[in-house]
Amino acid sequence: MRKADRKDVLKKRIVIQSIVFLTAILIFLAVALWMNFSRGSTAYVEKDEFVFGTLVRVVVSSEKRDPKAIADAMIQEMKRLESKFHPYHDGNSVIFKLNHATGPVTVDEETAFLISKSLYYSEITAGAFDPALGRLIKLWGFDSPDTKKRVPTSEEIAKALESSGYANVEIHSKEVSLKNHAWLDLGGIAKGYAVDQAVRLAKKIDENATGFVDAGGDIAIIGPKFGQFPWKIGIRDPRGGPQDIIGVVYLSEGAIATSGDYERYFEVDGVRYHHIFDSKTGYPARKSISATVIAEKLVDADALSTAAFVLGWSKIVEGFVGLGAQAMVIDAEGKIYKTKGFVAYEKE
Ligand code: ADP
Ligand code: MG
Repeated sequence: MRKADRKDVLKKRIVIQSIVFLTAILIFLAVALWMNFSRGSTAYVEKDEFVFGTLVRVVVSSEKRDPKAIADAMIQEMKRLESKFHPYHDGNSVIFKLNHATGPVTVDEETAFLISKSLYYSEITAGAFDPALGRLIKLWGFDSPDTKKRVPTSEEIAKALESSGYANVEIHSKEVSLKNHAWLDLGGIAKGYAVDQAVRLAKKIDENATGFVDAGGDIAIIGPKFGQFPWKIGIRDPRGGPQDIIGVVYLSEGAIATSGDYERYFEVDGVRYHHIFDSKTGYPARKSISATVIAEKLVDADALSTAAFVLGWSKIVEGFVGLGAQAMVIDAEGKIYKTKGFVAYEKE
């Protein structure tokens, strides 16, 4: 073979080798990309959506599955529960159906569970948590952001109170009846339950998924940051702007809920009328301006924070510790009270 021909063959071989090499790299990259997409990654995916009348943020990471798909499924689950438990929109709401029934209604297991839990919290908080204030809440216009809000007359309030209160709710197994035309409004507990269910779903898809759900300051942890660090959570200053915080807690697991008079309110003659009611008076509760509860599950933290808000700092709230919960209450003068165990969450 001539020297020039040998050179040609050599050249061709180099070109072929390069093509094979580049193709291999391309295939490798494509496979890696595909695996990353289908198995998920260590990066956090964030998804914001309006559910329960508030901006809900899901932050999730999974090495096993696509975190975006997990976040989508979680939002879907929360929306399902929002419609199911909506007191004032027909849609698919079991609660709307109950409120408009003329006799006992047999509900599904999930609804029976949440109603029973609500009644349990009513009993242990001396009615501070009350899931049957629908008539009162509607009267004040807090049934929807679009309803015109006004201060009702004392006669109107007295009348609404006759058709309010958890003593009007009867549940035997799955059969529920409402007496005195009372309406259920599970707004103080349903969001917490829905977020818990979303977290449960994420763990079902990937038991090692991590992240959290923040539903307007009510937060449940899916798992610690990068699998090992606690999430730093700011507690809103009830008299500051949306970005102002009065403290931080660190959570690797569990849940935290805050009820405040700054979330939904209107003002008349310089007086603030907000959305959490004292079932004894029929007026917005006045003992505190903010109440925070840390518990294992958000359903419990949610109900207890609403109760603590109504009760103010008291023996009952201090007793939450016996239920495995910790509390912080800010009274009407701005004074801050905390259970001993609460302080432990403030250290990283
Ligand atoms: P948010 O939903 O703003 O986080 P809460 O968890 O405290 O705040 O729930 C407030 C909602 O609970 C109200 O919008 C209403 O639907 C309902 N609610 C109002 N007063 C009470 C009460 N005393 N007990 C239980 N639920 C209440
Ligand atoms: Mg609550």
